Amino acid sequence: MSVLEQNINSVQAKISAKVQALGLDPQSVTLIAVTKTQTAETVNTALRSGISHFGENKVQEAEDKLPQITAPYEGFHFIGHLQTNKVKALLKLNPCLIHSVDSAHVAREISRLLEGTDRVQDILLQVNTSGEISKFGMQPVQLLQEAAEIAALPHLQIRGLMTIGRLSDKAEDSRQDFRLLKQLSDTLIRMPIPKLDMKWLSMGMTNDFEIALEEGANLLRIGSAIFGERLDND
Ligand SMILES: *Cc1c(COP(=O)(O)O)cnc(C)c1O
Repeated sequence: MSVLEQNINSVQAKISAKVQALGLDPQSVTLIAVTKTQTAETVNTALRSGISHFGENKVQEAEDKLPQITAPYEGFHFIGHLQTNKVKALLKLNPCLIHSVDSAHVAREISRLLEGTDRVQDILLQVNTSGEISKFGMQPVQLLQEAAEIAALPHLQIRGLMTIGRLSDKAEDSRQDFRLLKQLSDTLIRMPIPKLDMKWLSMGMTNDFEIALEEGANLLRIGSAIFGERLDND
C-alpha cells in the first residue's frame, strides 16, 4: 500500500472511530480531501483510493487542475477566499459547494451571474469565529444581519456555515470557534428566514477535526494528514 493510501485509510479510520464514539450516523459526515498544491496526478490517485470529495482554495489552480482530473468523483468544493472578479471562472468549474462566501456582495455576484439559467449554486457562509484580523469570514453579527438578504437571492442556496479554527499550537483552542459556529447555525435555524437549509457545518482540519466532530461538524476539510505537509502553507 502506498503512503497516500495508508494516510487515507488512517484518516478515515480516525473519523469512523470518533463518529462511532459520538453515536453519529457514519453517512452523515463527509470527508473533503484538500488538494491545494497537489498535482492532478496525486488527486487522481486519491480519488481512486477512497476519496470522493476534494477541495481547492484558489480559482486559478482549480482551473488548471480540473481538466486533468480523470478519476470519477462526487464533488469538487471551493474552500478558499473568493474575490468577486473570480466568481465567473469558479462557476464554470461547477463546484458542488462554495464554502467561503463571506459577504452579501460576493453572494449577489454569484446569483447575478446565474441569472437566465436554471442553476442554483449551493453555498456556505464563512464566519470569522475567532475574531483574528488575518482571517476572512463574516463577523457573527454581520452574519445574523445579512443572512436573510443572502438567502433570498434566487440563484443560490445557503446550505450551512464554514469556519477555520484559530491559529494555535493547541488544537483544543479551536473548540470555542466550532462551538460558536454551531450556535450561530442554531440561531439562524430559529430565525424566520425563508429558503434556508442549514445542513452543513464545515469545520475541522488536520489538527482539529476530532474536536470539530465533537462540536457538530459534518464536513471535514483535511489536507496534510492525507497528502503530507505542504511546502506552500497558504
Ligand atoms: C489548507 C486548508 C485546509 C486543510 O488544512 P490541513 O491543515 O492541511 O488539513 C482546510 N481548509 C482550508 C480553508 C484550507 O485552506
